[in-house]
Amino acid sequence: MNLVPLRRYFFEPLQLKIAGSPRISYWKTLEKTQWCTKSQLEEIQWRRLQELWHFLWENNKFYIAQFQKAGLNKESLSEPGDIRKLPLLSKKDIRDNVNDLISLGYDKNNLLHFKTGGSTGKALDIFVTEECSELRNACARRHDRWTGWELGEAIGAAWGNPKQPKTIKEKLINSFVQPYVYLDTMAVTEHSVHRFVADWKRVRPTMLFGHAHSLFVLAQKIDNMGIKGIEPVGILSTSMMLIPHERKVIEKVFGVKVTDRYGCEEVSLIGSECEQHDGLHMNIEHLVVEFVKDDGSYAGPGEPGSIVVTDLMNRAMPFVRYRVEDIGIPLDRQCSCGRGLPLMGKVTGRVADFLVKQDGTKVAGISLIENTLTYMPGLDQLQIVQERLDNFILNVVPGKDYTTDVGNSLVVYFKDVFGKDVQVKLQLVAEIQPEKSGKYRFSICRISK
Ligand SMILES: [Zn+2]
Repeated sequence: MNLVPLRRYFFEPLQLKIAGSPRISYWKTLEKTQWCTKSQLEEIQWRRLQELWHFLWENNKFYIAQFQKAGLNKESLSEPGDIRKLPLLSKKDIRDNVNDLISLGYDKNNLLHFKTGGSTGKALDIFVTEECSELRNACARRHDRWTGWELGEAIGAAWGNPKQPKTIKEKLINSFVQPYVYLDTMAVTEHSVHRFVADWKRVRPTMLFGHAHSLFVLAQKIDNMGIKGIEPVGILSTSMMLIPHERKVIEKVFGVKVTDRYGCEEVSLIGSECEQHDGLHMNIEHLVVEFVKDDGSYAGPGEPGSIVVTDLMNRAMPFVRYRVEDIGIPLDRQCSCGRGLPLMGKVTGRVADFLVKQDGTKVAGISLIENTLTYMPGLDQLQIVQERLDNFILNVVPGKDYTTDVGNSLVVYFKDVFGKDVQVKLQLVAEIQPEKSGKYRFSICRISK
């Protein structure tokens, strides 16, 4: 029985209605606004920026202090370009001011809390309202559909520590709302790939989803193992740089184009390719995206600049002119798809190698970071270097809650994953710099492949 129409038109709307979620109605609005002209979209963006500005002056201790320090007053924002008068927000600012960044009227205990780190190697505490999280989900849905995937269709994901459905409720959701099949990137072996392929053929997903490098590793395995019949309608690559030669391999093995997406956990989706695959459309209903050069001026079209985002939706913990620490390129051409959402080009940022266990099992560096940085207190930043099969170096930027116990549990965690006899050397460092190219490599495997 084909459950897709039932999931799309009945079970999912029912589940979201019971949960009181605005996701569907908001998604329908976004489906329309993507076809607005660029100037109409900029009007929406400008209206939301003004609303945020007034909100901050009334409700946010951190920003009131920051703005006053910068000599600004309530009238300082009189046109969109005035955003450049506002100070930049760094990861350190967020870490040092978590409490003041929460707006008046919001209680941390009633907000969704998550720790970033999985895709950046840097830990931050982020708080959002349930509603804001649903607006983000609605936005992601619009862009998911650009891959060719449709609501109600199953998804195959190459992901670390997948949330396998355990409770009855989770199992019902996985069958009747959004089915997933997973390849756990914490342990990629021929056996796990065979199991994933069997699940795929049973559930028949239409979208393949995963971290860029995990999709590449999966494509290589499928090719080497001579597996046929994995034919997604679309492939969605996220969280990391999609390197051109890896993209080529993925597209050749699966026979479809990869849809590259760029975002960060702090503000969610920033840009996404459409079906033309000719640049990433920026999500400007939700964000202001700037590209700033080292001297503080704006990068021109085709010129690289540091990506700075202002989240127009999260009132609980607003992010204004937040430096993501990736490099991107603004583009001034129009996409042939006809959408008014402006384009950005290539992003240079996060890369993370897979590491190798002594029996040859591959372990995604991004998943290891997620398992440690986002759960253990006191780790501001982590970089994993595998020198040999049995030798690891962990570069840690300690945070204020760091203790030797945390360091010890980190070492124990790596020994649990890679074997008791591996050597794990912990090095406390003041900072971990990106490479000259702008790439930020937080998991490095030096074993020749
Ligand atoms: Zn387009």
